[in-house]
Amino acid sequence: TIVVFGATGQLGRHVLTSLRAHGVAPTEVRAVGRNTERLSELAAEGFATARADLDDPPTVRTAVEGADTVLLISASEPGRRLPQHRAVIDAAREAGVERIVYTSLLDAQDTAHVLAPEHKATEALLAESGLTTTILRNGWYTENYVGDFASARERGVIANAAGGARIASAPRADYAEAAAVVLTTDGHAGRIYELAGSYAWTFEEFATAASRVLGSDVEYRALTDDQEKQALLEAGLDEGTASFVVALAADSRHGLLDASGEQLEALIGHPTASLEDQLRTL
Ligand code: NDP
Repeated sequence: TIVVFGATGQLGRHVLTSLRAHGVAPTEVRAVGRNTERLSELAAEGFATARADLDDPPTVRTAVEGADTVLLISASEPGRRLPQHRAVIDAAREAGVERIVYTSLLDAQDTAHVLAPEHKATEALLAESGLTTTILRNGWYTENYVGDFASARERGVIANAAGGARIASAPRADYAEAAAVVLTTDGHAGRIYELAGSYAWTFEEFATAASRVLGSDVEYRALTDDQEKQALLEAGLDEGTASFVVALAADSRHGLLDASGEQLEALIGHPTASLEDQLRTL
C-alpha cells in the first residue's frame, strides 16, 4: 500500500491520477487528509482512504498502518509544519514502512528562502529517523501565478516586486508525475532531487506570454517592496500576509526559484511545457 498524505489537496489529486496512470490500482493507494467530503469522492473513485489530522498523532498512526511506502506532501500551514511532519515520520518508523518520500523545497539545506526552515528541519528529522527516504525538492508551481494571470486579463497589467527574477516554475501535474515515478520505480532510495521547470522565465516574458494567450496587451510593472506591500494592504491583505508575499517576491528576485529543469525532465521523461502553453491551461 502507498499511503499519500495531502491526497485531498491539489498536488495530491494529480499524484493519485499519475499513480493510476502508472498502473497502481486505486485499492493499493490510501488517500489521507482531513476533508471528509473530498475523501468520500476519492473513495467513490475506488481509493482506500483514511481521515487523519497531522495535529492528532494517533490518527496519523492509524493512517500508516500496513503501509509499504508513504508520500508525505508537506503540510500547508507555515509555522505549524514541523510537529505535523514529525507525526508522520514517527508513525512511519513505528509502522516499519519501507520508504518515505517527502516533498521539500529547492536547495532546502542552503537556500535563504523564507519557507525553507521547516523543510530543512523536516529533512533533518528524516535523516535521523533511519528510514529509507527520497526527497523531492520542488520548485514553484506555475499555478501560484494564477492571480497575476487574472490581473493581466482584467487590467492588462501585472505589477509586483519580483522585478527581473527568473522563475523556473512547473505545473503541479509535473511535480506530481515525478512523485508517482519515484513511488513506483526502483533506484530512488536515498536520493534527493532538485525539481524545477525546463525554462526560467521573467515577468516581462510572463506578460508577453499572457498577452499572446489573451490576445490583448499586457504590461509588466516592477514595483518596489514598499509599493507592493502598499498595494497588497489596499487590496485587503493583513499586515503579516502582505509582508510574507513581499518576502516571497524578494526571494524570487534573489534567484532562489531559478534552478535547472534537468532532474524533473529526467524523472518525467520530457521537458515541461512552454510558459505560454502552461498559461493556456490556467
Ligand atoms: P493544498 O493546500 O491544495 O493541499 C494541502 C494538503 O495538505 C491537503 O490535502 C490538506 O488536507 C493537507 N493538510 C494540511 N494540513 C493538514 C493537517 N493538519 N492534517 C492533515 N492534512 C493536512 O496544497 P497543494 O496541493 O497546492 O500543495 C501541496 C504542498 O506543497 C502544500 O501543502 C505546501 O507545503 C507546498 N506548497 C508548495 C508550493 C510551490 O509552489 N512549490 C506552493 C504552495 C504550497 P485537507 O485539505 O483534507 O485538510
